[in-house]
Amino acid sequence: MRVRTVLGDVAPQALGVTDAHDHLFFRSAMLPGQDLDDEVAATAEAQAFAAAGGQAIVQWTPHGLNRRAAALQQISTTTGVAIVAATGLHRREHYPDGYVDNVRDRLAELFVRELTTGIAETEVKAGLIKVAGGFHILDAHAEFTLRAAAEAHHATNAPIAIHHELGSAADAVLDLLVDTLHVPPTAVVLGHLNRFPDHRLHRELANRGAWLAFDGPSRANNATDPRLTDCLAALVDAGYADRLLIGGDTTTARARAATGEGPGIPYLLTHLRPRITRYLGADVAGAMFETNPARAFATEWRA
Ligand SMILES: [Zn+2]
Repeated sequence: MRVRTVLGDVAPQALGVTDAHDHLFFRSAMLPGQDLDDEVAATAEAQAFAAAGGQAIVQWTPHGLNRRAAALQQISTTTGVAIVAATGLHRREHYPDGYVDNVRDRLAELFVRELTTGIAETEVKAGLIKVAGGFHILDAHAEFTLRAAAEAHHATNAPIAIHHELGSAADAVLDLLVDTLHVPPTAVVLGHLNRFPDHRLHRELANRGAWLAFDGPSRANNATDPRLTDCLAALVDAGYADRLLIGGDTTTARARAATGEGPGIPYLLTHLRPRITRYLGADVAGAMFETNPARAFATEWRA
């Protein structure tokens, strides 16, 4: 089992304290003027995370949204923080007009190439496939990209990480990926579940064997932010501490800690981990930040 980082494949335990969902670089048509595109600022953010005890960041920025693969490699070398990059495709509205139609016909092939050969013109390989579901149901774009992700998974064994629109439709994603397309649930990371704080649904998803990823808090002070520890506690009480992952999901320059207004990536360790430790215990915090990500992002690579 290996985790595919931007500096090469490593043993799972090499990850250490991990932010399981974040962005050092990101550019979306939905967030004009707020790009994460500054290498100095990204380096400072990774450095601040390292100073707080952080050892690995999993960047969920998919194809076409400014991943900066070569810069990720440089930042990892400079800061000593392991970084996993992604291939995959986001929801259509994140791209400029026409972009998705241009890549649509060769999507699985594109994902496989970025996982096994390199992202864009680099030799930096992606270590996960990030795709998106729909709002409450899977729309045609979501279904198409999820099918391509499953095909790329079967060719490579890569983990698949899902953006759920406002946290919804995670059950529909598992119906398609796991029940219909035979992706093992242990290869599926369900993201943004904090944005849909339905404890019963979360327990069902955990029971189906997938990874449950929570993130935040957000700069927007989403109504779901204060529900985060309730969601985690309910899953821990139900026996699913070994399924949980946590990330910061910093998507705008303003939200960086080192160069913006925060909360940013270090917040996970300076604020959130101590609270999780107090409420749920050091073992649960250790599982969420260390042992679970090492298992979730490691795989037997086929190529
Ligand atoms: Zn994200």
